[in-house]
Amino acid sequence: MRHSPVRLTILSSGLFSAWEQVSRVHLFRNPPRTRRTSDGSPSGLSLRGRCSPRKESPIAAVLPSPPDLNLADRNANSAAAAARLRDSFGRAITDLRISVTDRCNYKCVYCRTGNEGAQYTELPIADYLRMVRVLVSLGIEKVRLTGGEPLLRAGLVEMVAELAKMRTAFHEDGTPAGAGASESGRPLDIALTTNGHLLEGLAEPLARAGLNRVTVSMDAVDAETFARITRVPRSYEKVLAGVRAAQAAGLGPVKINCVLLRGFNDAQIESFAEFSRREGVIVRFIEFMPLEEGRTWTPQTVVTMEEIVTRLSAWRPSCGVPAGLVDLPPHTASETAKRFTFADGVGEIGIIAPVSRPFCGHCSRVRITSDGALRTCLFSQADHDLHGEMRRGGTDEQLAAYIRRILLRKEARHHIGEPGFEKPSRNMVHIGG
Ligand code: SAM
Repeated sequence: MRHSPVRLTILSSGLFSAWEQVSRVHLFRNPPRTRRTSDGSPSGLSLRGRCSPRKESPIAAVLPSPPDLNLADRNANSAAAAARLRDSFGRAITDLRISVTDRCNYKCVYCRTGNEGAQYTELPIADYLRMVRVLVSLGIEKVRLTGGEPLLRAGLVEMVAELAKMRTAFHEDGTPAGAGASESGRPLDIALTTNGHLLEGLAEPLARAGLNRVTVSMDAVDAETFARITRVPRSYEKVLAGVRAAQAAGLGPVKINCVLLRGFNDAQIESFAEFSRREGVIVRFIEFMPLEEGRTWTPQTVVTMEEIVTRLSAWRPSCGVPAGLVDLPPHTASETAKRFTFADGVGEIGIIAPVSRPFCGHCSRVRITSDGALRTCLFSQADHDLHGEMRRGGTDEQLAAYIRRILLRKEARHHIGEPGFEKPSRNMVHIGG
C-alpha cells in the first residue's frame, strides 16, 4: 500500500514521537552498559553454550555437524593452522568489517535513541592494522571500514594507504600465496560504509590512498524526510554532494544502503529507483533488523523483499520504459543482495533480506569493534577480546591461534523472529554495519 504524503507525515511524526518515547523509557531502564567479554564474565573463560546453535534449523540442516570444540581448539593450535580460516561448518572466512570509531555524527531514529553517544573506546590505527594483518595472513581478502561513523576518525586515509599495501595470503584457488613477486597474493578489496556527511572532502584522498568502493547510507531521497531521520539539518544536501564526489573520484558505482520501515519511509521505494537511474548508483534496500539501541523493531515494521519486488515490478520508469524488474545474476555465491535492473538496463536495485530470507549459510564474515573485540555474528551474545590478547603481549602467531579458536564458535545462523530470540550484546552502531 502506498501512503499519501499527508498520511506519511502523520505516520512519520507519530512514529518519531513514539520512538522518542520508547527511547526515553529504554534509556531509563537500561543505563549505558559496560564492556562484556566472551561469556559476560571479566575473565572470558567459557562461552560454550551461549553461542551454540539452539536447535536444528533449515540452514543448520544443510551445514555439516559442528565438530567437538575441544578437539577443534587443539587443531586450531596445530600444524593445520597453515590452512585458511574456516569456521566449524567449513565456511571460509574472507570478509572483515572493522569499526574504527564508536562515534557517529548522525542519530538515525531507527538506529540510535538520540540520547546516547559513543559507548566504547577506539584504538590507535596501528593496532587495527596489526589485527588486520594477522587476519589477512589467515585468509581475509575484503576489508570494510565502518563505525560509528568512520569518516570522523583521524588517520583514516593513512590507514587505507597501509591496507592498500597488503596482499592476500591465498590465491583464488585457495592455495597459499608465496612471498615472491610472481607468487604473491592479490591486493585486498578495501571498502567503506559511511553516512556520507563528510565524504565530499574525503572521497578523493581516500580513492588516492587505495579505497576501492564506498557504500553510503541514505534512508530517504527527499531532504525533509532525510533530515528527520538523521536528526541533522541539511544532511541530505551534504550526503548527496558526498555521493557525487565519490562517483567523480572513481569510487563508483557507489552503493546506497536504505533501511525501510513500514509507514515511515516505505513511500520512497520508487523515488529510490529513480535516484538509482538518475545518479548512476546501486540502491540496496536492507530489511530492518532488531539491532537498534531502542526497542522499536517488530516483525510488522519490516518491509520485506517480496513487498519491494511487488512494488517495483509495477513501477514504470518515468521515461516510457515498460514496467517490470529484470533479474541480474549474482556476482558470487555468497552475495547477500538479490539484484535487479529495469527493462532498459538503467539503474540497479539490490535487496538484502536477512529477516525474510536469511543468507547465513554463506556467511564469510567476521567483525572487529572499535575497542578491538572480535564478533563472529551480528547477533552474537558475546564479544571476544582480541585487543586484550594484544595488550597481554600476544605474538602474531598467538593472535592467529586465538582467532582460529574463536571462529570455530561462529554461530550457524541468527534467530530473528523466532520465539526466544535474544537481542545481541551490542547494537548495530556499536558493532559496525
Ligand atoms: N555510520 C555509517 C553509516 O551510516 O553507514 C556506518 C555505521 S551504520 C550502523 C551501518 C549501516 O547499518 C547503515 O547502513 C545503517 O542504515 C544500517 N543499520 C543500522 N541499524 C540497522 C538495523 N536495525 N537494521 C538494518 N540496518 C541497520
